[in-house]
Amino acid sequence: MLKGKSAIVTGSTSGIGLGIARALVAQGANVMLNGFGEAAAISALQAELGKGGAKIAYSGADMTKPDQVAGLVADTVRELGSVDILVNNAGMQHVAPVDAFPLEMWDKVIQLNLTSCFQAIRAALPEMKKRNWGRIVNIASAHGLVASAEKSAYVAAKHGLIGLTKVVALETAKSGITANAICPGWVLTPLVQKQIDALAARKGISGEAAKIELLAEKQPSQEFATPEQIGGLAAFLCSPAADQIRGASLSIDGGWTAQ
Ligand code: NAD
Repeated sequence: MLKGKSAIVTGSTSGIGLGIARALVAQGANVMLNGFGEAAAISALQAELGKGGAKIAYSGADMTKPDQVAGLVADTVRELGSVDILVNNAGMQHVAPVDAFPLEMWDKVIQLNLTSCFQAIRAALPEMKKRNWGRIVNIASAHGLVASAEKSAYVAAKHGLIGLTKVVALETAKSGITANAICPGWVLTPLVQKQIDALAARKGISGEAAKIELLAEKQPSQEFATPEQIGGLAAFLCSPAADQIRGASLSIDGGWTAQ
């Protein structure tokens, strides 16, 4: 389905981004991986994903640095020939009450989770316009739709990302370019494992007990969503069946935001 298309997936060396990269490769896309990690592990990942013949490039661009965001798009055009699909996935969390939230952490979370998405879209859109085809998939969160205490920067960034998605969808509405957001609930990745570990330490409970408590608080299914499921939805949004899905925020959250 995506043979000959080139995709950037930011933050794809781990977690949800890796699940999305795998799903796009399975549909025939070439992929520019991005994110941090050990060089050997990243090379192994490139080899594994490229087994079926897809071109798998890698950029270590730091998405908190505006010039590196633009560089990522330019490198993708140079190495893969185009940018047809942009998945803005790299993200981070910081947890603290508003009146104790460090200013530098606010700036970092907003830059990575929101501003870098704007910067990447801004750089990639002209490439998509050249071919009148493109897919922009922004990985927002249940926290793009509802809030939780102590996550001010994250919730602000993710609500902002949903707003940005709608604007881009309107500006591209008469073209073959679409923009949508995916809103996952809890997915068991390193980002969430940190929060589970913190909960276990704070309450003096086991990791397993902390997982159950985390899910019980927010996610009615009491099961984690998976990177494969998020990847499946991202691939669907890249399919012809999704041509008229524009500016949508699609939840995969075990019922979190239905409450
Ligand atoms: P993760 O920590 O497993 O992976 C984050 C990825 O981003 C890694 O590849 C990491 O190397 C990369 N990264 C981090 N900082 C970067 C930077 N400055 N520049 C480039 N890459 C960087 O996280 P995840 O849980 O897979 O989260 C992915 C996205 O999904 C995030 O936007 C997150 O907010 C969102 N999300 C996650 C969950 C969840 O439950 N895990 C729920 C909703 C939304």
